[in-house]
Amino acid sequence: MLRRRPVRIGLSARITHPEVTGVGLQTKTLQVLEQSVAQWAASRDTLVLMVPSVLQDGALLRSSIRVRDYAEYLDGLILQGGADVSPRAYGEEPQRPEWSGDPVRDAYELELVHEFMEAGKPILGICRGMQLINVALGGSLYQDLPTQLPGPLEHQTPAYDRNAHVVEFVPGGHMARWFGEVKGGQVASIHHQAVHRLGKGVVVEATAPDGVVEAIRWSGRSFVCGVQWHPEFHHLAGAEMLDCNPLLDAFLQAAR
Ligand code: MN
Repeated sequence: MLRRRPVRIGLSARITHPEVTGVGLQTKTLQVLEQSVAQWAASRDTLVLMVPSVLQDGALLRSSIRVRDYAEYLDGLILQGGADVSPRAYGEEPQRPEWSGDPVRDAYELELVHEFMEAGKPILGICRGMQLINVALGGSLYQDLPTQLPGPLEHQTPAYDRNAHVVEFVPGGHMARWFGEVKGGQVASIHHQAVHRLGKGVVVEATAPDGVVEAIRWSGRSFVCGVQWHPEFHHLAGAEMLDCNPLLDAFLQAAR
């Protein structure tokens, strides 16, 4: 019997920009993947490929390859975490210079989302990836939770991936169905932005006790889903963390 072709999952790149005082590689634009997210996606007989940005210095290279070709070749897309989304992507000015985000990465990932949705291919957004999906669908973000929506819950601390809080699935939602008996759990939280106004067709799938949106889903024709937490860090953090395999499996089933 022929073995099934492995599912091909594209992973968006984290982009680091040249540093003025940098040396060697630091003087270059780097497109990188963080190991945990790649290995999490690859934990289910999945081929994981990073999709590099094909934009260089704002101009397309002289090549006939377009983002659309990646969306045709790949079966699904994961948007990994990273820099803030620029408030300009949702029609606001940054309230502080350090919240101005990364417009270069926004442009690259907004095009990825557009092409994968156009192709009807599933998308899973992690942290920044979830925020980007909401913005791509016309929604907005809180630029900074501690100043715009202060509450008792810390969504980002110096403990980085060791910072955790509880989330609860919205009853009757898709995510609640995927996770079955499990109604929620502890998740790794590393974000200071959050979903504010929901994008067109976007529904909330999970929330934190302070009301912050922790998971969203597009109610349209294809699988487009995002989580504010980092499922790729959960197995490293301990058994008390939410097992996110049901989420990965739902995404991969849509990709198959
Ligand atoms: Mn959180």
